[in-house]
Amino acid sequence: MIIGSLVRVASNIKRRPATLEFPENREAITDNYRGIHKLDMNTCIECSACARICPNQTIVMVEVDVPSKPSGKGIMPEINLERCLFCALCEEVCPTKCLVLTKDYDFEKFDRRDFIKRPEDLE
Ligand code: SF4
Ligand code: SF4
Repeated sequence: MIIGSLVRVASNIKRRPATLEFPENREAITDNYRGIHKLDMNTCIECSACARICPNQTIVMVEVDVPSKPSGKGIMPEINLERCLFCALCEEVCPTKCLVLTKDYDFEKFDRRDFIKRPEDLE
């Protein structure tokens, strides 16, 4: 039993470390990975479909400055990443495909309020 343990320790010493030095080293992301949203405010038609379909009430429509719109304002999605399930229903339902999920997963925060992303933060 002791010999078995020593053999296991010796073989583990030869193996690569199981953890990576994040963020310098990162695992490859799978093709179907879903990360932080990206919003194109110029093509959002302010329909609220994303907010209505969201199963976790993650999206709130908020007023935002949009210089490209005639009024200079828009009502667009604000996303609380802390509540997000990354299910991609919002992307699926978006009629203009201006809201998509990227492969970006790097959004660790110290303050919970920083998980709330206003429309301009998602561009
Ligand atoms: S990915 Fe899913 S949970 Fe997250 S905001 Fe979109 S619909 Fe809501
Ligand atoms: S992001 Fe898409 S679904 Fe959401 S309000 Fe804009 S156009 Fe509509």
